[in-house]
Amino acid sequence: MVEQQVGRKTIEALRRKLQAKEQELRAAISRHAREGRQPDDLGTQDLADQATVCYSKEERFQHGSHNRELLALVQAALRRTEDGDFGLCTSCQAPVEKKRLEVMPWAEYCVGCQQLQEKGLL
Ligand SMILES: [Zn+2]
Repeated sequence: MVEQQVGRKTIEALRRKLQAKEQELRAAISRHAREGRQPDDLGTQDLADQATVCYSKEERFQHGSHNRELLALVQAALRRTEDGDFGLCTSCQAPVEKKRLEVMPWAEYCVGCQQLQEKGLL
């Protein structure tokens, strides 16, 4: 499937996308870190509000750790653009579908391997 393989121009465009995403994630992570250190002012709120605050705090935490995982994937993909194996599945070495890379240029696996990974078979 030669037509699916990403060319140098596409890699360059995706690399810029990855760099922008890296910046965005770094900014989001440091913002979350700052918010996390702020003391909660629950004194004037009723119980319903407190529940909302706790919930959103938990959500924020999960979102923050998701950002860090994604940042690691983005950085690994950027390294692959330098090593010259960007766009290849890190498991089976087959070219990752171009459409998939356009949506998530940090994808490590081709669709087949991703499905195996999600089932815990990889
Ligand atoms: Zn694969």
